[in-house]
Amino acid sequence: MSAKVPLDMLGTPAPGPHSALRAPHSALVDTFGRVHSNLRISVTDRCNLRCTYCMPEDVVFMDRSELLSFEEITHFVRVAAPLGIDKVRLTGGEPLMRKHLDRLIRMVVEVPGIKDVGLTTNGLLLADRAQEFYDAGLRRINISLDTLDAGRFRALSRRDGLEQVLEGIAGAKKAGFHPIKVNAVVIRGLNDVDVVPLARFAREHGLEMRYIEYMPIGAEAWERDKVYFAHEILEQIEREVAPLAPAKDYDPRAPAMEFRYADGRGSVGIIASISRPFCMSCNRVRLTSEGKLRNCLFALNEVDVKPLLRGTPDDTRLAEIIRQNVWDKWEGHEINTARFVKPQRTMHAIGG
Ligand code: SAM
Repeated sequence: MSAKVPLDMLGTPAPGPHSALRAPHSALVDTFGRVHSNLRISVTDRCNLRCTYCMPEDVVFMDRSELLSFEEITHFVRVAAPLGIDKVRLTGGEPLMRKHLDRLIRMVVEVPGIKDVGLTTNGLLLADRAQEFYDAGLRRINISLDTLDAGRFRALSRRDGLEQVLEGIAGAKKAGFHPIKVNAVVIRGLNDVDVVPLARFAREHGLEMRYIEYMPIGAEAWERDKVYFAHEILEQIEREVAPLAPAKDYDPRAPAMEFRYADGRGSVGIIASISRPFCMSCNRVRLTSEGKLRNCLFALNEVDVKPLLRGTPDDTRLAEIIRQNVWDKWEGHEINTARFVKPQRTMHAIGG
């Protein structure tokens, strides 16, 4: 008999709006009382895969001169840290497409107040670079892998590369990364058959598996029917792999619902953006590779901060803009309503 996962305990707190307040001068807080400490930085929109759910095949990448330099990115982090940002994740596009990424990691790790630097990568180029990233101070790494089947890998990413990703995971282990999180987007009818093999693979290799519900942020028309929901993933794992229980340090504010195997052999996270949106506990802001500040993955407005980083920097103004951008954050993405509007940028150009 499998232990039932008590899904009711997964609710998020729901603070009300405080719109009568004015933007405060210290912490990055919005009108719903959400305090922001987490910054995701896209270092490039380029990618060596073309995942169907993420980007178009015939994508036109930005001119490299558009991209923020490592110095400009670090400058942004230096201004954001005293406002309360203490956690940074480097992403893309594919962040390893950016040369000398280890230099940026080192620069961000050294910013006073930054406690945690992570990287999200497709792993293709990771095998030879993992050690230098570790040596630069990176400790948290998420590697995206949607299937262990080479044919489905090609169908989903429009490229070959499964073996390279597996080598990348092995390279990350060898370099000393622990834990290593493996992210899989699950799309009904495409790779829901991979949920169980991936769970077994992760248990066998000491990896933390994280399943992500398919979101409307790619180039293709999104169909709700194709979302393979959190409860389906959990039921399948409990039925075919092993019983799960909520993780001991379960944090209802974190985007991932965390579970551990009852037998102690590993854990599973689920990012249920569709079936259990976590907007009311969102603490993230995003900086795109060309310097646009976004207060939500699905934001329809963004603020160009490049002029404040390039040329004559104005840190006071930049701090004000970051505060205001957070203050202006909306309640949530509204994917589950008729009001939802898909942003023009696809995921690869925002930073996942
Ligand atoms: N290239 C890197 C990678 O593959 O991890 C970093 C960028 S990628 C955009 C970051 C994450 O976003 C990946 O785990 C990817 O699977 C996820 N992602 C992209 N499009 C998505 C979608 N439509 N729904 C859910 N997750 C998506």
